[in-house]
Amino acid sequence: MSSAHRLPRTAFPRRYEITLEPDIPTSSFSGTETVTIEIPESVESVTLNAIELEIESAHLVDAAGSRLRAAVEYDEPNEQITLSTGRPIDPGEWQVEFSFRGTLNDQLRGFYRSTFTDEAGVEQTIATTQFEAADARRAFPCWDEPDYKAVFSVTLIVPDDLEAISNMAEVARKPREGGKAVVRYADSPIMSTYLVAFVVGPLEITDPVDVDGIPLRVVYPPGKGDLTDFALEVGAYALRWLSDYYDIPYPGDKVDFIAIPDFAFGAMENLGAITYRENAVLIDLETTGQYEQRRVADVIAHELAHMWFGDLVTMKWWDGIWLNEAFASFMEMKTVESYRPDWKRWLAFAVDPGAERTDSMDIDALASTRAVEFEVRSPDEANEMFDPLTYGKGAALLRMIEQYLGVETFREGVGSYLREHSYANTETDDLWKGLESASDEKVGQIMNTWILQEGYPEVIVERVDHGLRLTQRQFRYVEDPEAMNRWMIPMQIRLGTADGEITIHHLLADETEILPLENPVEWVIANAGGHGFYRTRYEAALLGALRPKLADLDPLERFTLLDDTWAFTVEGSVQIGEFAALAAGFSDEREHAVWQMLSTHLLELSRYVPNDARFAAFVRHLVSPTVERIGWEPQDGEADLTRRLRGQVLTTYGRLGRDEATIKHAQDLFHAVVADPSAVDAEVALAVLAIGAANGGVEEYEAVVKAYEGNTNPQQQVRLLRSLTYFTDVDLADRTFEMTVNGDIRSQDGGWVISGLMANQSTADHIWNRVSRDWQQLIDLLPPATQRYLVHSLPAMVEPGLARRVQAFFGETEFPVAAKSLSQKLELQEAMVGLGERERDRLVSFLDR
Ligand SMILES: [Zn+2]
Repeated sequence: MSSAHRLPRTAFPRRYEITLEPDIPTSSFSGTETVTIEIPESVESVTLNAIELEIESAHLVDAAGSRLRAAVEYDEPNEQITLSTGRPIDPGEWQVEFSFRGTLNDQLRGFYRSTFTDEAGVEQTIATTQFEAADARRAFPCWDEPDYKAVFSVTLIVPDDLEAISNMAEVARKPREGGKAVVRYADSPIMSTYLVAFVVGPLEITDPVDVDGIPLRVVYPPGKGDLTDFALEVGAYALRWLSDYYDIPYPGDKVDFIAIPDFAFGAMENLGAITYRENAVLIDLETTGQYEQRRVADVIAHELAHMWFGDLVTMKWWDGIWLNEAFASFMEMKTVESYRPDWKRWLAFAVDPGAERTDSMDIDALASTRAVEFEVRSPDEANEMFDPLTYGKGAALLRMIEQYLGVETFREGVGSYLREHSYANTETDDLWKGLESASDEKVGQIMNTWILQEGYPEVIVERVDHGLRLTQRQFRYVEDPEAMNRWMIPMQIRLGTADGEITIHHLLADETEILPLENPVEWVIANAGGHGFYRTRYEAALLGALRPKLADLDPLERFTLLDDTWAFTVEGSVQIGEFAALAAGFSDEREHAVWQMLSTHLLELSRYVPNDARFAAFVRHLVSPTVERIGWEPQDGEADLTRRLRGQVLTTYGRLGRDEATIKHAQDLFHAVVADPSAVDAEVALAVLAIGAANGGVEEYEAVVKAYEGNTNPQQQVRLLRSLTYFTDVDLADRTFEMTVNGDIRSQDGGWVISGLMANQSTADHIWNRVSRDWQQLIDLLPPATQRYLVHSLPAMVEPGLARRVQAFFGETEFPVAAKSLSQKLELQEAMVGLGERERDRLVSFLDR
């Protein structure tokens, strides 16, 4: 691949010595840098990356010590600079010396400012970094591509009273005049520029926890020390568990988890200096629910998994980012499954609505999807790779092949891959080779059908004499005769015959195959365990044979059956009444994950019959047995997921079922819960906030805003912000929108808050008018990595007139930071609008019956 964005491969950095001096009051920094490079062949000039940096001087020094001043030519569109000395640069080792200045920006990328109000009410500023994908070049001149790995030796000059953190342990801190300190860090291992980090600010640090010789600490804004225990516990567990799994020691010399008040992503896997959004690492177990706790465990496990997979072994180029993220997500599930088996992490992975796997199955059924691995040229395109296809489909494919190869075989293959490529870069094939070395399967051949082609299959299952006929075809929401991809599908098939139950592993490679069986099949689950990334379409008799068996199925299999039926409803081959009838059979369901998905599909259905009393009655009929069974009051010794189920079904009962007693009870508790998160059980509090806000007015709204303003608890802040998006009055929605624009809500949160207002059917139309009118202002305000939230809720906006206005607006408006995401959301919106137009009458007659 060649592109103007890529650096010519004529000079190779080996070691960076970087000294940076941030000046927080003036939002600027100055730096000096010496980079040792190797020039393999004589060149006229040296090109590297730098943007928004003012290079004050640049010199090239040869091995004999002669120092040549270099002229600097800026190429801003490609974010590069070119150095030339007026004569050829001979092959060999050189040192490039720079002095430069830059800005501490407010864009949450490069070297940037994050602010918070301290306990005395004074605004404090942190200078921090976020370099992935390609923003190290905003902090220091560098070869900012992942395979230009080098050693980094960092020195920070900071006010003496501030903490300063980088990737490696501090080796010296010397006072300097003017109340400053010069802080030097140990040399890093050989690594990529995007993993370098520095954080400077008035921070506090926990005592280290010793994890088999590696000190682990949490760094946090003052006053939040009581929120760090859980992160230390999970971090220590995960670090040990991952070292064991990979069978390779941790590649750094310490681990710091750093909580940053303004952060565009969830977290960032800088080697040894992992940065987090506050609510992804700081948590109070007393006032939070299972989801909020699991998210902290997830993010910590994910980032630590990257220390090996990503940091020690790194993709050659950004088209490999999918494997980096997919693998870390896969390991996140494995680690958390081991840490808390009762949380059923793999089940939630497959089922959580709006999480990456379910999102990716939606997107991947569209014409505007993409292959998991695709060509990346520019930084914008690299940033667009951080989407559900990368995380969700990618991790699901790894899970599918792990289950097919066997868990231990897979682990051995991963270990041999990491050992072979330590401190180096790889392509996707290298992992498949590692897995092939541990198994006798053609892993590369199988996986290429999944990662190099877009979409996924449905498998049609029919009974024939002496066996089953399996037929694959590409699944699309809107049928497309051009969509003809074929896959090698690793299937796990469980079936019942007169002789009992058996499970068969089968690789479906042809379009149609007959699976020969001796005994007649009574029933079959063609995605046993539910981890195959495909949908299953059973012939009517086989589907009928499964209905009475629902309760005997594994929860994930039950979910798959319901979710596939929903997908076929959206696609049009199943009528909506059929789906609703299947859903009605779930009133005895006990599994939180299945209820959560059921509630999501009910919410989707409700949008076609807004304020319909018959629909509310249908929901109450479905949910009431569970509400009656578990009630409002938690029992001693209850499982976390049972507590969470309570919050889930109460919310559905109150919001979609509009049950009067439930709404009244939530309203009675609302003010107490807003003022004090520990007033009731944390899961019940979530239901109270959702139902109370959805049925609340100005008084309730202002109580939430007031509680938000003074709040320093990261999860409580998110809860309060989310509840602001549930109010149905458009004037109140306006006030929330205004808070995102005027900075009362942090820019890191503005995108998802606006997305929530757009997903709320009562405020969607009104907020869309504001979003479309103030579009440019929002683009200037929101961090680029979060802007995709502005289109996240389009598929929920199913009113045809509104959908037409949205489509018209984007017909004229470019959105380069999320171009792919936009076209996918527009297409999904069209499918959901089409579902309503096609099925609404049938839904009404189902409800009338
Ligand atoms: Zn990651």
